[in-house]
Amino acid sequence: MQSDLPTKSVHISVLSGCIDCALCVLACPVDCFGFNQKDKRLLVINEPHCIVCLNCEDVCPVDAVRIGLDRYLPDSRPV
Ligand code: SF4
Ligand code: SF4
Repeated sequence: MQSDLPTKSVHISVLSGCIDCALCVLACPVDCFGFNQKDKRLLVINEPHCIVCLNCEDVCPVDAVRIGLDRYLPDSRPV
């Protein structure tokens, strides 16, 4: 059945303070994150599957990941 509710996109903003510790990679139950072993950098690989559990926000030691609807935070870094 088709829903008339407006659809919202989930956006994962990784902020410039990210230290690439990869704790969010381990915490995400649906594998939204990956890790580039060569560059030792966090990757966002599966944003549409985010279930907004907020585990990543809870586990981040430097408060550098935010889940939001419809927009990225302006100081997000490319991931
Ligand atoms: S909110 Fe949950 S599902 Fe979404 S990226 Fe963070 S840990 Fe993964
Ligand atoms: S937990 Fe925070 S600091 Fe660590 S990789 Fe994820 S966003 Fe970056």
